[in-house]
Amino acid sequence: MFPQVYEYVKRNEAMQSLNQEYSKLPQQTRTWHLSKNFVPGEGPLNAQIMIIGQAPGRNEDEQKRPFVGRGGMLLDQLLKKAKIKRSECYITSVVQFYPPENREPTSEEIKMCKPFLDRQIEIIKPKYVLLLGNIAAGAVLGISTVASTHGTKVEKDGTTCFVTFHPAAALRFKNIAEQMQKDLISFSELVNKQESKREEGKVKK
Ligand code: URA
Repeated sequence: MFPQVYEYVKRNEAMQSLNQEYSKLPQQTRTWHLSKNFVPGEGPLNAQIMIIGQAPGRNEDEQKRPFVGRGGMLLDQLLKKAKIKRSECYITSVVQFYPPENREPTSEEIKMCKPFLDRQIEIIKPKYVLLLGNIAAGAVLGISTVASTHGTKVEKDGTTCFVTFHPAAALRFKNIAEQMQKDLISFSELVNKQESKREEGKVKK
């Protein structure tokens, strides 16, 4: 088997077993206040870019797919304008069960789900992580407000993380949608620049 195919098969096995374990969390937790529907992450397991949101909404809960509601549609549009192909990204959320009434996940719920997100990051090994909103930026980087940190990159464990708003905020406020669009364009340029540098380095060697 080609090494890349072997690596992909290994990642697939690891992700499937992780998702199986994660999806059983409601049955194994005494006080469970989230939906019991597990919404797995979606996308290629060798994606360079991983996109991390907050938690699924009602549509995602029904369809068991991430970012398929109104926020997801807006995200698709903004990514497209920034020339980022969603189909080439791995997209998931900090908490992968719908918090009823679309409330924010509690800090206990985030604490419970975060180790699964960490393991997903370990499996995908993304070069770039796009963090959407306060909950994602807080869980991964310990940043509490994207209002002052959006549009910036943070290097963490060899991965380039980039902070922007959550599409739900962009749906509510036009100026946030505009800022988020600018951020995604900067992010896309950053990825292209870093990747062409990497390619140049390979050619020179
Ligand atoms: N918002 C998120 O943060 N995640 C989803 O999966 C959908 C909406």
